[in-house]
Order: sequence, then structure tokens, then C-alpha cells
Amino acid sequence: MTRIANFCPVCGRRLISMHVSGRSRPYCASCELPVYFDPKVAVVVFIERDGRVLLIQRAVDPGKEKWALPAGFVDHDEAPEDAARRETWEETHLRVRINRLLAVYPKRDHGLADIIIAYSAEVIDGEARAGDDAADVGWFAREQLPPLVFYPSITLTGLWAKGELDL
Ligand SMILES: [Zn+2]
Repeated sequence: MTRIANFCPVCGRRLISMHVSGRSRPYCASCELPVYFDPKVAVVVFIERDGRVLLIQRAVDPGKEKWALPAGFVDHDEAPEDAARRETWEETHLRVRINRLLAVYPKRDHGLADIIIAYSAEVIDGEARAGDDAADVGWFAREQLPPLVFYPSITLTGLWAKGELDL
């Protein structure tokens, strides 16, 4: 019935559809409560050094073999900036300091997240080396960008390449 879950997370009964709070929602007739599914939140991190942007090559679909900014999901009990540091470490083995919030994007393509929070960051330690779901990692100049995937990475890198991204 939904793309997320068809059973009540509390009692396990199959959910029905009920009009609640202005729209049709998953509803548990046993608990007599609507079940609210929340958006999946991801972070994406823009890191520039010596005029080059840090990109990872994706090892898995969606976007396998294309390149994107380091990114990943925020855990349910995790602060977004902590997720940004953790995901950058997992994918690139770089320790970074978050500088500022760049943008918040809704889902606009086949990316897996519903809401994407973008930060700028700078490297404070380490050498870039691929890990987790990254097949490769590299620093790219504006005129040497590889094929990119996902709206936030394409948008931010495009702005940066035009000199229009304030990091
Ligand atoms: Zn229930």
C-alpha cells in the first residue's frame, strides 16, 4: 500500500487507508491511529581544496559508476552535521570540518533521499581514499568534471564551476 511499510510498526496489523488530517494516510484499525511515515533525510558535502572539488565514484546503483559529492543518510538519532562528517569519513577517509549550510533540496530525481541537506566543509586530516559505497575518489578541477549523478551534486558542482557557489 505504501512504498515504505504495509504493517503497523506497533502491533503488526495490516494497515488500511484512512482520511486523516486532510489527506489519505496509512491507518491501523487495531491501534485506531494513523501511522506517519517521515521523509528520509540525507546530507551532501561540498569540499574544495586547491581549486578542486572532492567527488566519489559510486560503486552501486542508483548512479553506479557516475560521480557525486560525498553523501549519505542521516541516522534517526544523529545530528545532520555529524552525519556529514561520518559519511565523508566512510566514503573518503577524510576528516572534515563543516563550514556552513549551503542548501536544502527536495527530492527531484531518482536519488534515494526525500530531503537533502548540503554543507560546505574543509579537510582537517587524512588522504582521500575510497571506502563504503564509493568505488573511487578524486579531486576535480572545474574544467575536468566527470559525469555526475543526483540533483544536489549536479546543481552544486555546476554553480561552483561557474564561480557562483559561496563556500
Ligand atoms: Zn497497530
